[in-house]
This record gives sequence, structure tokens and C-alpha cells, in this order.
Amino acid sequence: MNIIQEFDTITAIATPIGTGGVGVIRISGDKSFDILDRIYSKHNLEIGKISHGWILDGDKKIDEVIILPFKNPNSYTGEDVIEIHCHGGVNVVRNILDVVLRNGARMAERGEFTKRAFLNKKMDLSQAEAVADLIHAKTRDFAKQSAKNLSGVLSEKIKEIREDIFQVLSKIVAGIDFPEDVKEPEYDYLITEFEKAIEEIDKVLAGANSSNIMRQGIKIAIVGKPNVGKSSLFNTLLNVERAIVTDIAGTTRDVLKETLDWDIAITLIDTAGIRDGEEVGKVEEIGIEYSKQSVDEADLVLFLYDASQGLNEDDMAILDLVKDKKCIVIGNKADLISEEQRAGRQEGRLFNAAKQLSSQAAKLDNDEISQKQQTDMVLLPNRPIVLSPDEILLSTITKQGLDELKSKIKEIAYNFSLEDMEFVTNNRQQDCLIKCRESLSLALEASKNYELQDLISIDVKSALLYLDEITGEVITDDILNNIFDHFCIGK
Ligand code: GDP
Repeated sequence: MNIIQEFDTITAIATPIGTGGVGVIRISGDKSFDILDRIYSKHNLEIGKISHGWILDGDKKIDEVIILPFKNPNSYTGEDVIEIHCHGGVNVVRNILDVVLRNGARMAERGEFTKRAFLNKKMDLSQAEAVADLIHAKTRDFAKQSAKNLSGVLSEKIKEIREDIFQVLSKIVAGIDFPEDVKEPEYDYLITEFEKAIEEIDKVLAGANSSNIMRQGIKIAIVGKPNVGKSSLFNTLLNVERAIVTDIAGTTRDVLKETLDWDIAITLIDTAGIRDGEEVGKVEEIGIEYSKQSVDEADLVLFLYDASQGLNEDDMAILDLVKDKKCIVIGNKADLISEEQRAGRQEGRLFNAAKQLSSQAAKLDNDEISQKQQTDMVLLPNRPIVLSPDEILLSTITKQGLDELKSKIKEIAYNFSLEDMEFVTNNRQQDCLIKCRESLSLALEASKNYELQDLISIDVKSALLYLDEITGEVITDDILNNIFDHFCIGK
């Protein structure tokens, strides 16, 4: 690949469209300086020095501007680049873009500036992806992490791991190619090296979960048996009539997903009532399957039951399904709880009983009620039960408990996002790392079995290829286009 590739000259507005102090139009490519020459009041710009003058359309003055000229390869894209800093009004910016386009530039595609930077080796692929992350970062923490990748932290780590694996491969290949002169490496050496590389990859992957949460926000699944108020809660949280609410059990048949724009992105998943049993229809069965999947993919589960009815076996079965998840227990329909029931709840007599039965429960303490009694009480209809001290009593109708629920969700979401994270990775990078790890595991197993090193080398080579995919040393056009399609125009 040439250091500077031949491309046509592209342009775009680099600042957000709207009214602002300054707007920036960028031009990149061989013709950048020629184009400016035709539309700018001054000529013979000095590289690296800003210039002050007017953008002209023929003899008409369009705007008073500052010009930043960059000569290849010392620019963002590695090409000749002109930045025009003009006044920030929507129409001023558009007029200038129009003049630039009419004088020989083409409108840039999404991410095309950064793509050129990558193709011209100004940055590797993981750094280019960090540019997109930085722009789209939803929290300040994530922006900081993305900046680390932009500065090459992830690339450096990958290169380090790659170098070690490459050394091992070289020794294996030398042993195979020159058996008379070079002894093939000891199997113990291979085992140690592969184990070390796997450990290093695991370190990079350790931040994967937090990375995904910071990038995509946390996924919250709302679960509970039919009719406890899941759709109502979903709507209440969203403030829209998105899911269909009915009083016939089992009407939410699809999994609905919506994203809430709180301090951290939160994706809400409304699931069909989780229910097993023969009477369940086909469509609903599919919904239930989805629900189970939703629970699997959720970072946090909101478990809903009808507080005016108390818990029954169905509720307990669902609770069991989510036992390994971070979960907020919500007693809904608080407005229907009678005074007597409320008093019972406050007394908290049944609290430990429920705790004991819940598979999420901690150890039972100082309770004088026998287990048999506890079971009876929990399964007794119309008896409200407090599941845990953290349980939230809610009514989607009166909105009682809603603020408490929101702040609880935010608190948990925030803790997720602060989980220690040395390396930020995206799905594509994680995928490559996982595949690389798989190849290394195969090589490790083969080494433990003293298999032919010729065979072992195949897995080691594929491990290297996956690492090269991360930095973009080896990459297909499809993958490349897919990555840059997620950028905005002008970046
Ligand atoms: P889902 O099947 O779990 O999604 O339940 P829905 O959200 O469809 O609600 C079932 C029924 O319960 C509807 O008639 C709702 O209006 C009603 N409902 C939901 N939340 C509350 C609440 O907090 N209080 C009362 N009284 N009724 C509720």
C-alpha cells in the first residue's frame, strides 16, 4: 500500500449543523489547495500558518474566514487538507460547502476522512474506531477510555501479544524448515508461551462487558408472570404508549426494546409474561422463549409481581429463572393493597419467610416461624410479601415508588459503568480476540499432546491473523465499510 493513496478530493461540514460561534468545513485530497485558490481572497498560503480572508463565490463575498492549511502527510487524513473556519450559522456553512463542491470537491461519505487516515496509515483500525467511540461517547468516563484507545493503548497491547506469538511461530517454522540446523522448540516452551498469550488476551477481554455497557448502555429486562403490569411499567418508564396494555393475561407477545436517555443509555426490554405450561399458545411460546433470551442478555432484571395478590408458585418459578442476575424486586399495584395488607408488610413478619424461599435469598435469621408456616404464608393468596429490604413497592397508576425505582436503576447502571476497565473493546475487536484465543487454545492442547509442530503452526498462524484484523493489518473491504458507515459525515 502506498503511503499516500490517490483519491479524489472530498469535503464536508465538520461541525454540527446548527447555530454556533464557528462552523468548520474540511477539504481533503490532491485538489484541496487548487480549490481554495479559486474561492479564497488570498493566494500562496504558507503551510502551518493560519490565514485570514474572505471566501468568494465569483466576485461575491460569502463570509470572512480563517483558513488552516495542512500539507500531506502532516494532516489528519495524511492528504492535503484545508480547514475553513467560518461563522457558525446554518446557511453560511452550507453556502461555503456549496462553493467548495462547485469548484471540484465531492461530498464526503460517512467516516471517509478517518477511513483515509487509516488507509494512509495515520492511525490503525482500533484507533480509527476509537475516533467514532469518542464522538459518540454517552458518558464522560467512556470518552476518557476512548481517548486512551485513540492514543494507541489497545493497539500497543495487541502488538505486544502479536510479537510474542510471532516469536513462537518463527521458532516453530525454523525447526520445520531447517531441521538439520535448528532444533524444534521444546513442547514445554510452547505450552508456557501459549498459556501466557491466552492470559494476556483474557486481560484485554476482561473489560469487554463494561465496554459494551458503556457503549450500548445497560440492558434491562422486565419480567414477571402475565398481568402483573410489565407493559404498564415499560410505558411508564418510557412515558409513551408503546407496549399494548390489556387486562387479558399474556398479551405482550413480542419483546419490545426501547432506549431511555438517562445519565447512561438504558435499553429496556419488555418481555412476554414468562409462563410454562400446556395452555400456552404457539405465538406466546415464542415470546416466552424470547423472554428467557432477554433475561440471558440483560444486565439487570426488573422482577415484577402483583403486590396485592402476593407471590405464588408462578412468581417463584420466574424468580428462580433470574436468580443469577442482578435483580430489582418490584411489588406492583401498590394502589390495590388494603390497609391490612399494608400493615402486614410494614410489620415485615413475612419478610424472612419469603427470603428463605427465594433462591436469591440470604440466610434466614432470627425467625420464629417454622419453614412449613413460611411456605404456607408465601403461597397463600392475597397475602402481600416483602421479598427483600430493597424491594420497591410500586404503582404504575399512582406512580408511587417510581422515583425510587428510577434512582435505583441509575445507581446500579452507574456502578456497572464504573467497573474497572483497563481496555475498552468493541464487539468486532472482542470477536477477533475470542477467535484468536480459540486458535491459541487449540495450539495449547496440541502442544500438550505432543502433536506435530507443523500442525500446531496452523493454529498459531490463524491466531496471528485474528490479531491483525483488530489493528487492520488484514481486513476486507466489507468489514472496513461496515466500520466507517457508523461514523458521521465530516469525520
Ligand atoms: P403485563 O401482562 O405484565 O404486561 O401487564 P399489563 O401492563 O398489561 O397490565 C395488566 C393489567 O394490570 C392492566 O389492566 C393494567 O392497567 C393493570 N395494572 C398495571 N399496573 C397497575 C397498577 O400499578 N395498579 C393497578 N391497579 N393496576 C395496574
